[in-house]
Amino acid sequence: MALAPLDDTRAAILAAVTPLPAVDVPLADAVGLVLAADVVATEPVPPFANTAMDGYAVRAADTESASDDAPVRLRVVDELPAGRAPSTPVGAGEAIRIMTGAPMPDGADAVVMVERTQRDGDNAVLVGAVAQTGDHVRRPGGDLEAGETAFAAGTVLGPAHVGVLASIGAATVRVHRRVRVGVLSTGDELVPIDGGALAPGQIRDSNRPMLVALARDAGTEVVDLGLARDDEDFIVGVLEQAFATCDAVLTSGGVSVGDYDFVKAALDRFGALEWRQVAIKPAKPLAFGIVQGVPVFGLPGNPVSSLVSFELFARPALRRMMGYDGVRRPEVRARAAHAFRRRPDGKIHLDRVRVEWRDGDGWSGYVAASTGDQASNVLSATAAANAFALIPDGDGLAEGDDVTVMLLTD
Ligand code: AMP
Ligand code: MG
Repeated sequence: MALAPLDDTRAAILAAVTPLPAVDVPLADAVGLVLAADVVATEPVPPFANTAMDGYAVRAADTESASDDAPVRLRVVDELPAGRAPSTPVGAGEAIRIMTGAPMPDGADAVVMVERTQRDGDNAVLVGAVAQTGDHVRRPGGDLEAGETAFAAGTVLGPAHVGVLASIGAATVRVHRRVRVGVLSTGDELVPIDGGALAPGQIRDSNRPMLVALARDAGTEVVDLGLARDDEDFIVGVLEQAFATCDAVLTSGGVSVGDYDFVKAALDRFGALEWRQVAIKPAKPLAFGIVQGVPVFGLPGNPVSSLVSFELFARPALRRMMGYDGVRRPEVRARAAHAFRRRPDGKIHLDRVRVEWRDGDGWSGYVAASTGDQASNVLSATAAANAFALIPDGDGLAEGDDVTVMLLTD
């Protein structure tokens, strides 16, 4: 079977998935989700003119002659903490002691910082600086005007967006639904982490906890479908349940060309499934298809391959389903910290590396260094990586060569 290029494979998968329908969710649950409609401010922020400083609300005209040597003396007629509506206006020759966030009282048009004043008994203040109209006054709508679009559809909501939406009283927001992802491990050799001691030939099921973590980290909600033995009918049964309850399904193992590759056989029974050999190392085998409207990713069993395949294919697709526009991890150029040796084999090699920013000696940029053993079963070296170095087909790279790295952070 001809190897499928990485970019074509990823593009085909992204073309096959679409954003999930819009739902209203409480603001507190919306971080990481994508707006499905514009949010228009229904009230101005701030809602009223208020002071940006602790100080005195004054009439700017009263301070025209003020200086350090000849301060102006104003009568203090009231005190305004934040949260209290003003009841006393500021007349000529008057001031009101005012705290940050308190509404500007009628008559006042500027605030003098408390640091530029000196209290003169209970009822007066000496102002040692000229105030200009509007000094330290936050105007209503200065952040957002009523009727203004706060955020457009497609905005990915982060913590600051949540703050802004709270400031305009948006208790719920219309977003693309969080994807529910089912995660299934397969393999007769596998023992769950709480499954007791290993018998001869057994290993721990490490992919399922890892894929659950990867899927959660991508912003999805995970349904743990458990561990299936190598039995085609059993796997078909679990998948049938999964297609009825999940928006997407990830399986691990059983998609190679071995005699025991039951996931491939089980997925074949549902039809509409493509099985590919991608021109990459690790993570060459991949099953992908849409079954009953549900995208399913048959990821390879080797733990490093499973993670790489998730990063390259499943994560972008899951993010697209959640309405993300930019779904790819960032790629940057880095300098090889050492030689990356390889042989021509028609594949892009994705070496797990640590990328660091270096500054100095008239050069600054990213430097990429291998995190160790690159075998597809050695997950510990992958845990130390923060990027994949994309080593093109050929004889590898010399120390100091440029290399494209895909960062494992957004
Ligand atoms: P398979 O693709 O099922 O032939 O698996 C390839 C390799 O990955 C074998 O060495 C399996 O034992 C290993 N493997 C498969 N699934 C898992 C898993 N969930 N956790 C750890 N290793 C696995
Ligand atoms: Mg297997």
